[in-house]
Amino acid sequence: MSRLGIAVLGATGSVGRNALDVISRFPRRFRAAALCAGSDIRGLAALARVFRPDVVCLYDGNRGRLPREFPRGTRLLFGEEGMREAACAGNVDIVLAAASGVSSIRPVLSAAREGKRIALANKELLVMAGKFVTAAARRGKGEILPVDSEHSAVFQAIVGHRREDVRRILLTASGGPFRTHTTARMRSATVAQALGHPTWRMGAKISVDSATLMNKGLEVIEATWLFGLPPARIEVVIHPQSVVHSMVEFSDGSVMAQMGIPDMRIPIGYALSYPERLPLELPRLRPHRMQGLVFERPDRKRFPALRLAYAAARTGGSAPAVLNGANEEAVRAFLAGRIAFTDIVRIVDRVLSGWSETFAARSLQDVLAADAQARREALDRISRQRRHRPS
Ligand code: MG
Repeated sequence: MSRLGIAVLGATGSVGRNALDVISRFPRRFRAAALCAGSDIRGLAALARVFRPDVVCLYDGNRGRLPREFPRGTRLLFGEEGMREAACAGNVDIVLAAASGVSSIRPVLSAAREGKRIALANKELLVMAGKFVTAAARRGKGEILPVDSEHSAVFQAIVGHRREDVRRILLTASGGPFRTHTTARMRSATVAQALGHPTWRMGAKISVDSATLMNKGLEVIEATWLFGLPPARIEVVIHPQSVVHSMVEFSDGSVMAQMGIPDMRIPIGYALSYPERLPLELPRLRPHRMQGLVFERPDRKRFPALRLAYAAARTGGSAPAVLNGANEEAVRAFLAGRIAFTDIVRIVDRVLSGWSETFAARSLQDVLAADAQARREALDRISRQRRHRPS
């Protein structure tokens, strides 16, 4: 069997490093053909020395300050065009899309059009441009396989069943670190508290999104595109143990759940090896050590992000991009200590409800314009709000 070439977009991030761990465990099966990172040039160089990819790409970085630590013979590429070239290279079979933000959207679309398998970890791509990403994959006759643990769970539960027999998707959410907190207590939550996710180790942005439940809202939108269901047939269930990664209910009332320890290498590995499974040799799930599984209804009053995300999903067009863009700026402001935790979703709400333009999105350009406009409006509200905050 010839090795599958993987292009890892976002190689120095949390998902990227987990993916490289999986790749390194199966050297006869996978090869890191291309590694792309945003601006972490030293991290990228260190990975390049270990994995010896054919190409590396720095898509946000400064071309002038290249360290000499890159192995000889490695091609160095830059920017969006470099990432596109890396993702579409002939020896790349699978593109692991784990670059944060929207920088990878055009490279991923190009790779999908060429029929590459897209192992999708960056949910923003589907949230913002699900219509265009799924159309590109259809055109290239390639597939989009979810890396997000919940969507991987749904995908695993659906495999072997007819899509028309699916009645409902039940997306599980840990509930985040503030699951039992009052709104008043959340108002004074610190960055460190928001980053203290109870079950998963992740980057800062997604950890904050898990604390507001915006992450789950974005995942509802992601699921509408991956599984072709309207938002009304996707439900969120709070499940603090993160053992059941999600469930699918079929027309006969049967419910399939996928369980496992919370380790991203499982869904990453499945997206790379599907339809086969990898002998990952991770710690195993020990059911007799579990003290019962808890499931709760999410509280949309304390966690209004869910309500906003469902509304954006129903509106469609560029509304999810507006939601996502405003949220990214608000989360960044919270992480920088500029706004309170509860201001994040409040700002997103204001940007969405005050949107004076149409949500129509006929092209990717429309979506990107809405994203940019949403960010400007969020930043405007953040700076105005700061003046009003007591010091
Ligand atoms: Mg997830």
